[in-house]
Amino acid sequence: MTRHYVDVGVQQIQTYLVRAQRLKGRRGASSMITKATSPPNVKQYLSGLRATVHDEAGHVDGVVSVLVEDPADVPDVVDRLVGALRAGLPAAFLTASHLVGDNYASAYDRGREGTWEFPAVCAEWVGAQRCDWCNIWPVVARIPSEDGDGRKDSVCLDCHARSEEGRATEVGHKPLAETRLRRELAGAAGRDVPTTFDELARLSPYPDDDNHLATVFADGNAIGGLIAGLRRAAAQDPKQALLLQNAPGLTDGATWTALVAAVRAISGDEPAGHWPVIAHLVGGDDLLATVPAPHAWPFVRTYLREFADGVAPLARDGLRGSASAGVVFHQSKEPLSVVTDLAHDLLKIAKKEHSGLRAAVSWQSITHEGSAAVHERRSVVLDDLAQHADKLTRLAAVPRSQRHVLARMLREKVDLDGQLRRIRVRQESTEPGEDVPHVTLATLAEPFLGDDPAVPLASALALTRWWSA
Ligand SMILES: [Zn+2]
Repeated sequence: MTRHYVDVGVQQIQTYLVRAQRLKGRRGASSMITKATSPPNVKQYLSGLRATVHDEAGHVDGVVSVLVEDPADVPDVVDRLVGALRAGLPAAFLTASHLVGDNYASAYDRGREGTWEFPAVCAEWVGAQRCDWCNIWPVVARIPSEDGDGRKDSVCLDCHARSEEGRATEVGHKPLAETRLRRELAGAAGRDVPTTFDELARLSPYPDDDNHLATVFADGNAIGGLIAGLRRAAAQDPKQALLLQNAPGLTDGATWTALVAAVRAISGDEPAGHWPVIAHLVGGDDLLATVPAPHAWPFVRTYLREFADGVAPLARDGLRGSASAGVVFHQSKEPLSVVTDLAHDLLKIAKKEHSGLRAAVSWQSITHEGSAAVHERRSVVLDDLAQHADKLTRLAAVPRSQRHVLARMLREKVDLDGQLRRIRVRQESTEPGEDVPHVTLATLAEPFLGDDPAVPLASALALTRWWSA
């Protein structure tokens, strides 16, 4: 039977979330999205219309998905939903789609009857004072400053809503990703999640370096292609049809399962305290989260591995689903919008370099390399990271000053061979009982040299800055 669906959602949700640079503004916006798209509220928006909320897609942050009984009602449903979301999310870019198919998965894949865009518009006039929070829209209100020094911030309509929502989160809607993560991690009652970057940075395993964080932006590879394959197979095989129907929920589930596994991988066993993560956006095959910098590599490796396992049931015709990631290392004071934009660019690089066929990571440290993309660095494939993990650990054990010298020699294109053999480094053995007091740098650098190494030495050295296996 042909069904008609309407999706209305926030386009480029991460851009909207970080529009107000402060984390509080981001949390406020997360709560606003949760509230505006919560099923009970959506039911109210639809009152009197022949349309119902469905959950065939799993719940994706910032998207309202409804089943419409009569296609003639689609324009009214779109109007009603866009109007309601606009009221709750003044500056969000909204899109609406009318999808047609036997079920949501097949409709999503091919049955787009119409798509409409609703950019946020705001009267601008020359000379208007710009908002202190987003620096984009004109000021409409003054609110007490976050610093608690008695001063006032001048804010626009959207940031005013964020501020109000931020204040209400203790009793009202909490950001969906945060609430669900807390629930998914349950079992260790008494542990909470941090809500500010400063709180998060203090959860660093190295108390003497507690101001660096890593923001991870990941999304799925080949998921669209796999669903298209399933659709072709579904016509003959009811089992495949069922799998197709479950594919969106399965993908969303894989994202959550992988996130929970990754958080557990970096968390100690203490029964109390905080989980070392802030989840900004989780849903579908997307993840945007921040962890203390020293936890970044175990976090992202676990996440990508578990995600691939989670979507394994969708594999077909030699094609397997996976995810890639962009990782930005930064200080806790760095504006979230800068960090997120760079993470997004890095993610695109990682996907492009491997045609979206292999899990790969592209990364950069704003502190050491600035926020413009480092062009000469290629992304690294997850499997290569796994294969080189021990070698990276050994290289990371070389004193920092010696790694700096080596990195400089590489940049200056000094002939390395002689130098590498001369420099002897003291290393702790990684195997208990085995004592390797001195090795030459040549031994440690060798896996990263050659014609086309999977992890070139310059990348390996940059990796060791925050490496932990
Ligand atoms: Zn603003």
